[in-house]
Amino acid sequence: MFFDPMYFVYVAPALLLAMWAQWRVHSAYAAASQEPAPITGAAAARHILDSAGATDVAIEQVPGKLSDHYDPRAKVLRLSPEVYGQRSLAAVGIAAHEAGHALQDAQGYALMSIRNAAVGVANIGSGFGVILLLIGLGIGLSQLAWLGILLFGGTVFFQLVNLPVEFDASNRAKAQLVSLGIVPQAEMRAVNNVLNAAAWTYVAATLQSLLTLLYYASFLTGNDSD
Ligand SMILES: [Zn+2]
Repeated sequence: MFFDPMYFVYVAPALLLAMWAQWRVHSAYAAASQEPAPITGAAAARHILDSAGATDVAIEQVPGKLSDHYDPRAKVLRLSPEVYGQRSLAAVGIAAHEAGHALQDAQGYALMSIRNAAVGVANIGSGFGVILLLIGLGIGLSQLAWLGILLFGGTVFFQLVNLPVEFDASNRAKAQLVSLGIVPQAEMRAVNNVLNAAAWTYVAATLQSLLTLLYYASFLTGNDSD
């Protein structure tokens, strides 16, 4: 089952979309890195957080490229070295997006709370769920296999909730960069390109988990009718 070529037929559209989105992220990031900004990514994030009253959120540097994320448990915004220290539109755009997540958290944005609660369910679904499915198929117990698929549905649910959270963080970032005067409206194009490309990677990930769920279900209904 791991090597079933039909799996790739099912998820091929998502894989192609993911490859295209990754390529767009990297080319948009490279282009926006060449466009100067008045302050670094870290300074932009600090400015956005402070002006929204989120002064308790810390900003730290983490190793890696595009490893930027907001940690809601520690209330820390972690930025990659390039984003943290560069004065470019790429840096301020990504830093502002992560600051957008911190603002969602500070303002009790409901979908973010649901997403954070669903992380555990998603991890169980993609791990234990798939194991149950395989065992169920292996011993011919379809109820167990369906339970595995149900758990995998938790992963799909997480991805679906994650999408509007990501879009909202980017919308907040774009609005804050302009209203705080960090990036003039006329120069927002390069920022928009980076954030929109990143959004497509999330769409691709969601599509992939949805198509994987469909594949599992069709595999099992096919088995049932044999
Ligand atoms: Zn994000």
